[in-house]
Amino acid sequence: MPPLPHDPPDSITIHDFMLDEIWGRHPLGYSRNPFTCGLSGRTYSALEVKERTDYLARGLAKELGWQPNKGAEWDKVIGVFSVNTIDTITLAWATHRLGGIQTPANAAYSTLELVHQLKDSGAKCLFTCGPLLNTALEAASQVGMPKNRIYMLELPKEATGGQPTPNGYKTLDDLIKEGSQQPRLEHLNLQKGDGAKRTAFLCYSSGTSGLPKGVMISHRNVIANTIQMTTFDRPTRDPKKAPGTVSDYTETCLGLLPMSHIYGLVVICHVSLYRGDQVIVLPRFEFRPFLSAIQTHHINLLYLVPPIIINMVNNQSLLAEYDLSSIDAIFTGAAPLGKETAEDLLRIFPSWTVRQGYGLTETCTVVCTTSPADVWLGSCGSLLPGYEARIVTIEGTEVTGYDQPGELVVRSPSIVLGYLNNDQANRETFQDGWMRTGDEAVVRRNPESGHEHVFIVDRIKELIKVKGLQVAPAELEAHLLTHSAVGDCAVIPVPDDAAGEVPMAFVVKSSKVGIEDSEAGLRREIVKHVEKHKARHKWLKGGVKFIDAVPKSPSGKILRRLLRDKEREARRQE
Ligand code: AMP
Repeated sequence: MPPLPHDPPDSITIHDFMLDEIWGRHPLGYSRNPFTCGLSGRTYSALEVKERTDYLARGLAKELGWQPNKGAEWDKVIGVFSVNTIDTITLAWATHRLGGIQTPANAAYSTLELVHQLKDSGAKCLFTCGPLLNTALEAASQVGMPKNRIYMLELPKEATGGQPTPNGYKTLDDLIKEGSQQPRLEHLNLQKGDGAKRTAFLCYSSGTSGLPKGVMISHRNVIANTIQMTTFDRPTRDPKKAPGTVSDYTETCLGLLPMSHIYGLVVICHVSLYRGDQVIVLPRFEFRPFLSAIQTHHINLLYLVPPIIINMVNNQSLLAEYDLSSIDAIFTGAAPLGKETAEDLLRIFPSWTVRQGYGLTETCTVVCTTSPADVWLGSCGSLLPGYEARIVTIEGTEVTGYDQPGELVVRSPSIVLGYLNNDQANRETFQDGWMRTGDEAVVRRNPESGHEHVFIVDRIKELIKVKGLQVAPAELEAHLLTHSAVGDCAVIPVPDDAAGEVPMAFVVKSSKVGIEDSEAGLRREIVKHVEKHKARHKWLKGGVKFIDAVPKSPSGKILRRLLRDKEREARRQE
């Protein structure tokens, strides 16, 4: 893969990089509108975003008693538990302006899950939105966060069914107003190399095993992946521009995917904004508002995940009601997009370019992607510039030929700092600058373009991906064990047409279960036990099966792969 045109800077914050360095030099200056709400049409110009970020940082400084050059970054952690808003990134950049960290939580989280993240990250305050306020309040009270440290992100009335933002809480706009009366903040002084050491975002991922862990993403990680993606796309986007310069061609993109997940956070909110694109923000997926936003705002690039594409393919008559002629391309990631689904979509919209990207929270998103000039359906495309990759077999031998499977191991300036307070997971995942992805891949050469492509063929790690969202088997197993009927258990992924995968549990009944207890009744209780405490995407949609014993290795490790293969075979025979 070609090298990057220049090393990603390591002594600058994301805030300074985006708002001063890049937007300040953009051919269109500050006159573009980076964020527009796809429901209400409310929009901010780049200049407004810059000003709001500045005032918000001043408002937060007064409210929380923080200053850019005082206090450690870990004492300045701000939690965000909200659906997407046009202010979410303004809040992140204002936090960075103060030398703090944003920890975004999945808006589908239950109280229990939010408590885990707030506790683990040490968040000092929490921004939420009206529909999620009750969960936020419960979680905050469980971690001892006072009520006056909960702030509101306002949603358009179209997203709340007309419900106003609850009273009694400061909103982000209140803080901006207060900040506008405050004196200018001193500049955050980073020492050489600080941008590569300081955490900017703490996102949660279970990695190759175990419970969700805080992934420390540095300022340089985000800047690196932004430059890597932009450099990769340069030849097709603006062939006349030199590498490393900003193009004056801009796109209108869909900002529907959650900004709490690395894909939405980095690719949509940083890569696209770096390039001068406009992001049309939607709080959640609802079919008609999604199609209507495309039509109204003439969106030409859709950032999607495979389940939405499947939904589109299965609802052609609804698609036909809207003018979708503005769309040139879709970009999909976070889970595999089957070749057949891509072909189905292209049969309906032959002029669209269907691109696939592959990445992880731990790589600060994109590792490889197909280029519009080199689409190969089913492939995750070529490595981004600045990436190195190896394919390593289970025995530890490096694969050198095409089409030979092994674990994909990568190195890049975007590889994150590691997991927070988890030496063992760090040792297992990050080795001498290289990162083990836990995904099985093969490399093939595209006979048409001559370029090497990465195909993800299986997942070695324990992760389950439901609609592109993470479900950690270990987390569900720990929860199932709190049910009195469960003596032991194992959770595995099973395929699902709509969601890609869903979790399924194998349960060994505990000694408390009597012969009078029916299996159907127990099954219902176990399913409900998960539904009561866990986010919807973690529900046991794959069902519950009773077994006599969970297969384990001599060291006690659950042999999930064995169960997965057995279940695959059982379903094939059904
Ligand atoms: P996350 O950290 O939530 O982004 O999850 C990363 C994991 O999602 C990867 O390790 C893969 O297992 C899976 N993944 C992401 N993108 C793709 C893709 N295009 N094809 C197959 N799997 C993917």
